[in-house]
Amino acid sequence: MRISRDQLIDIKCCIRPLRAAGPNLATEQVGDALVIHNYGHGGSGWSLSWGSAEIAVGKALSTLPSEIAVVGCGIIGLTTAVVAQRAGLKVTIYAREMIQRTRSFRASGSYTPGSRIALAEPAGPQFAEQWEMMARLSWKAFRTCLGLPGKPVEFGDSYALSDKPLEKRKWPADPAITGSWATTGLPQQNSEFAHLDERIKDIVPQPVDLSAEENPFALPYAQRTSQMHFNFPSYAQMLLSEFFGRGGQFVMRDFHGPAELGRLPQKVVIHCTGYAARDLWQDKTIIPVRGQTGWLVPQTEANYSVRYKNVSLLSKADGVVIMNNNPDLGDMLGVGNAMELANLADIEAGLAIIAPALAPRQA
Ligand SMILES: Cc1cc2nc3c(=O)[nH]c(=O)nc-3n(C[C@H](O)[C@H](O)[C@H](O)COP(=O)(O)OP(=O)(O)OC[C@H]3O[C@@H](n4cnc5c(N)ncnc54)[C@H](O)[C@@H]3O)c2cc1C
Repeated sequence: MRISRDQLIDIKCCIRPLRAAGPNLATEQVGDALVIHNYGHGGSGWSLSWGSAEIAVGKALSTLPSEIAVVGCGIIGLTTAVVAQRAGLKVTIYAREMIQRTRSFRASGSYTPGSRIALAEPAGPQFAEQWEMMARLSWKAFRTCLGLPGKPVEFGDSYALSDKPLEKRKWPADPAITGSWATTGLPQQNSEFAHLDERIKDIVPQPVDLSAEENPFALPYAQRTSQMHFNFPSYAQMLLSEFFGRGGQFVMRDFHGPAELGRLPQKVVIHCTGYAARDLWQDKTIIPVRGQTGWLVPQTEANYSVRYKNVSLLSKADGVVIMNNNPDLGDMLGVGNAMELANLADIEAGLAIIAPALAPRQA
């Protein structure tokens, strides 16, 4: 992969909508409309989109409507709309932006269903079961997109590289930190996050250590995993084509409060506004978790990803994504930060950190 500064073409900054108890999938009556919520998917919205949509649409179907409204056209809203159409419903999407202009399009694009999705204690064991169902249903749905024209969903090799033997980092509770989400409204340390990925390791490829002969990199330790990723432009196009092909209507509209959803002509409304629900629905339990990605010129001939120190590079059809994380902060990076301005210096620093990982191997 060429990762010099001249290849950098974009920086995208975004907020993960984290809810301590996991996504809101509750229902409520607003005026004469039944509103079914489907928002708050943290760092896992793409990954859980199909499973979460199945739950929300299932609730809608229980009222036997012939048509519904979906509010929001990010990955959650658009997937929900398509799932509802596949179940035979007529669907109108209302949103102020189509998917290409939403926060969803500012994600990185891997299958990461357990990423900052909930906090362990407030979410509880029931959520873990619901999460597993969403993750498995989504995995199955993504598999039906493999090999389609434009490659909306693909697998690539992902390498973790290191100067010393690789070990999975553990985050035991730090007794010196006395505050917690329960006392401050924000998680205070990594051990508060729910870690659920173990539940689906029977279907998701796990890392294997590479021997010195198998390791193609200049660094002495390497692990390889097969990772699923999403190519945003073709994936969005695939969903929009299906939505409009099945007669879906899109209405560009900005809502200012719940009562406006209650006045829509459709009497069943699935509400998918993501982080914006914090203001629209006054759901102050949504915790912002800032994140940013740098984008290098696409290099489709290099279909692999690399992690070294705190930096990751993911090569996809729509660009090489670079993220510069902080190894000492883990899931706490960006927690409570709703600032969506890009930080170029941070991306440039990341490019410098990961450069040795891609240096040619000495003979
Ligand atoms: C740096 C970063 C990397 C990430 N990487 C991944 C990843 O690799 N894999 C993964 O699964 N997830 C990832 N995520 C998380 C993912 O981006 C989110 O979970 C997902 O985008 C949430 O989607 P959404 O549809 O709920 O919200 P959004 O994308 O925000 O969509 C909300 C929709 O609601 C509409 N809307 C909002 N308010 C109003 C209003 N008042 N009136 C009308 N319409 C309104 C918007 O126009 C938009 O159409 C990442 C997040 C970040 C920050």
